[in-house]
Amino acid sequence: MSDFCTDILVIGGGPAGLGAALRLSEHKTDWLLVEAEDHFGGLAGSLKDEQGFTWDLGGHVLFSHYDTFDRFMNVALGEDGWNHHQRESWVWMKNRFVPYPFQNNLHRLDAVDRERCLAGLQWATSQMGRGPSGIGNFNDWILATFGPGIANLFLRPYNFKVWAYPPETMDYHWIGERVSVPNLGEIRRAMETGEDQVSWGPNRTFRFPRQGGTGAIWQSLGRRLESGRVWLKQRVEHLDADEKIVRTSGGMTIRYHRLISTMPLDQLLKWIPSFAGQQLPLKYSSVYMIGIGLNGQPPAHLKTKCWMYFPESNSPYYRVTVFSNYSDLNVALPGQQWSLMAEVSESPCKRMEPTRLVAQTIQAMTEDGLIDDVSSICSKTIRFLPHGYPTPFLGRDQWIHPVLAKLAKKDIYSRGRFGAWKYEVANQDHSFAQGSECVERLVHEGGEEYEPTLFMSNVVNSRRNP
Ligand SMILES: Cc1cc2nc3c(=O)[nH]c(=O)nc-3n(C[C@H](O)[C@H](O)[C@H](O)COP(=O)(O)OP(=O)(O)OC[C@H]3O[C@@H](n4cnc5c(N)ncnc54)[C@H](O)[C@@H]3O)c2cc1C
Repeated sequence: MSDFCTDILVIGGGPAGLGAALRLSEHKTDWLLVEAEDHFGGLAGSLKDEQGFTWDLGGHVLFSHYDTFDRFMNVALGEDGWNHHQRESWVWMKNRFVPYPFQNNLHRLDAVDRERCLAGLQWATSQMGRGPSGIGNFNDWILATFGPGIANLFLRPYNFKVWAYPPETMDYHWIGERVSVPNLGEIRRAMETGEDQVSWGPNRTFRFPRQGGTGAIWQSLGRRLESGRVWLKQRVEHLDADEKIVRTSGGMTIRYHRLISTMPLDQLLKWIPSFAGQQLPLKYSSVYMIGIGLNGQPPAHLKTKCWMYFPESNSPYYRVTVFSNYSDLNVALPGQQWSLMAEVSESPCKRMEPTRLVAQTIQAMTEDGLIDDVSSICSKTIRFLPHGYPTPFLGRDQWIHPVLAKLAKKDIYSRGRFGAWKYEVANQDHSFAQGSECVERLVHEGGEEYEPTLFMSNVVNSRRNP
């Protein structure tokens, strides 16, 4: 294939790459995008299995901090292309469902657990403001905020299951709006009235594509880009950062002036001479998505549930989504089938046995009351995502920020979920904004002030962004 030359080259056609490309196409700039796969969406893509069931790559719920993102969502699927849902999420523990957030619904626990959790919370509240906090990691934060009761019953086991790293090895500054911090007075009130507190959080309501799963959004937006500028099935296999040349699996050689990369940072750095061969501190966990398609109807208690968290050790999964509740078109025969999607994490601290995972999942789903009759299972799908969650490891920002600055000196801008490795701004809306804000920075030849999502994450997450 022939040589190409462009001002701005984008690597990746996931939300961050598409956020960049859509912004670039609004400017009179010369740009190209290369994507390794034959479709758009990256981790936010979807697939259809051989039995005709649609699956996302893990439970994706769309919520947004940005007006611009919402406008693009409406462009992608129109006003009518969505189902609108009220979040109904639960924690399964000791043979009962507790509404999420767990810590706000302690009245659902048995008397012994309830008292333990309450005593822990009282202790934590009494310690607040008494001298230096001494909080150095995520585990310290959990204990200081919730006390040992909630920590030991739910937050520590659950967080290890989802992150696949001990909370002691993780930072806590990412938390911001992501964990509900309880108010003792409200919890006591809920215990007296027995009323569930379910409305906390930024994703109380959400919308989901009527057809094609979450990936339909990104397929639609990708198809709107000028075709001559977008190259699918072109995996970047080599980057010469000094010469500013990229080579792809399809034989393209592309010279660029500036590069926006949304591929994982650990892979990009292998091509940067000052990092090549080095042991990088970057930590991440992998995810297995396990899709179980079933004939018939879901059990009555699952008919309105969205997703459920599983802190206990009998199940390999940390979360299960009743995926057919998001859209009846997520199954092959709407009205006659339903589906469950499980997520399992893995890391060097938590190894899984992939050949046994589907069987373990079905066994646990039966124990947990999600499947009544295993003979109704008509489809089993497993998909491995090597890069699933960018772990907020200790010292992350002190390491990442200088690395991003060093890359910028070479006109390389690493952005997106694994490009910038910042979990708190790694959802679809954030990733899309990272791509789009980076373009604004480049077009205006400005600095970090053009990229609030990446460099002022707490501010962006605490407000609606016009
Ligand atoms: C289990 C799970 C659950 C999630 N749940 C939610 C949720 O509920 N809500 C939400 O908003 N978000 C959720 N997310 C996050 C969402 O998937 C990400 O925000 C989004 O996909 C990140 O977009 P990105 O473009 O930064 O990265 P990616 O989606 O990873 O896209 C990167 C793209 O780069 C391509 N690429 C990689 N290497 C190369 C190469 N060498 N050459 C060319 N192309 C390359 C990849 O193929 C990919 O298409 C979830 C993610 C996971 C894993």
